[in-house]
Amino acid sequence: MIITNDDELQEEFLTKLTDLYSRQYKDIHVSDLTLCLRQAAYKKLCPKRTTLEQLNFFVDGACRDMAIKEVYGNKGVKKLFMGIRMSTDVTASDGFPIEMKSTRASNGISDHYLTQLTIYMVLQDMREGHLIIQRIVPKQITVTEKQPPFEFKRIIIDEDEFQKIKYTTETNRDILKTALAEKNPLLCPVVHKKDSWVCKSCQWNSPAECPDKP
Ligand code: SF4
Repeated sequence: MIITNDDELQEEFLTKLTDLYSRQYKDIHVSDLTLCLRQAAYKKLCPKRTTLEQLNFFVDGACRDMAIKEVYGNKGVKKLFMGIRMSTDVTASDGFPIEMKSTRASNGISDHYLTQLTIYMVLQDMREGHLIIQRIVPKQITVTEKQPPFEFKRIIIDEDEFQKIKYTTETNRDILKTALAEKNPLLCPVVHKKDSWVCKSCQWNSPAECPDKP
């Protein structure tokens, strides 16, 4: 047996993924409104070739989506809600949206997980949703016992929270729309300081492209 690096396959795989992303980037998706609006604008206006690091994110996310579809059935419908495209695959048996996220942290729930799920809830006019958190590195509790690798959460928001999330979603959608119409990603705000970790793997993080990044 001879094993060699297959550079051709790597090139083909990344090219196909770049094409797939560029087709998906045309509409505004919930994920565009979750972390960095400016990055979302750059992805649509100035797409760059997909890297191996992004392939990692893609496979990770695709596995979790596939797990939910396997369990709840693949309805395969994508619709526009408030001008934002989302998949209606993401509902549990009770009809409420469901999202699965993975983390290396052993506790806590990242804000952007809640942001994404609550946008799904608002777009479908629901006050309830489900979040499954996969702890990729479960903590060793005792010599024989490990933290469970999955946590299942029910998220309920009140009317006040619902209206605030709706307002923020509409505002961010409109900012992104304007930046796209003007072909200027710099019209979008940078990511919040607490989420500046996103900048480390951002393809548009050079001082010329994002001079005021946190
Ligand atoms: S460098 Fe940071 S702030 Fe700038 S576009 Fe990328 S993620 Fe957003």
